[in-house]
Amino acid sequence: MASIAVDGPAGAGKSTIAKRVAEKLGFIYVDTGAMYRAMALYFLRNGIPGDDEAEIGRACQDITVSLAYEDGEQQVLLNGENVNAYIRTEEVSMMTSDTSKYPEVRKKLLSLQRELAETKDVIMDGRDIGTCVLPDADLKIFLTASSAERARRRYREQVERGISCELEQIEKDIIARDEQDMNREISPLKQAEDAVLVEASDMTIEEVVERFVTLYRDRTKK
Ligand code: C5P
Repeated sequence: MASIAVDGPAGAGKSTIAKRVAEKLGFIYVDTGAMYRAMALYFLRNGIPGDDEAEIGRACQDITVSLAYEDGEQQVLLNGENVNAYIRTEEVSMMTSDTSKYPEVRKKLLSLQRELAETKDVIMDGRDIGTCVLPDADLKIFLTASSAERARRRYREQVERGISCELEQIEKDIIARDEQDMNREISPLKQAEDAVLVEASDMTIEEVVERFVTLYRDRTKK
């Protein structure tokens, strides 16, 4: 099966771009961040502190995460409940970064992610897709942009979703989250050696989409 791995820091536009590229190429878009978010939501709902590794490890046994698609949109199911509407708050974002560093949490999702790529053509986005989940992806892209630009995009996204927020706080939060994601021991956020770097601060969404599609077509022609 064909696969494209997209990694990069928070708010770089990975999901917006990957979704459009998936449509153009007829691939399935897999948002792995949403899976980690669903797990974090479970810990928050059950009052499990983000720093209690033992309790989180135990709770992992009670969690099933799965994906479904409605009108082409990925829906993430937490023990059968569609939780898409609850996983995008800043509180969940931070809890996700706090808990995605634990091996039990990562182990839980890794096999599901690999299974999806075995049965379907996928463009998958996250932090460790090119380095860990799909080391043999046909194309690996590391998508980034300045933290100010990423904060502005995340801010607009949240406002569109009707979530109230402050730009300054969002920038602080994404910087803190990136630091934590880059410096963890297991599967840190890192550009794979064979990944193409795309710096998107001064590019429009359409330009980035075109760049991905061209990179993929060039890569698979050879
Ligand atoms: O991409 P998104 O912002 O939804 O990811 C939320 C969090 O999930 C990240 O900050 C990171 O801690 C975690 N994550 C991860 N590995 C992935 C995808 C997301 O650790 N492949």
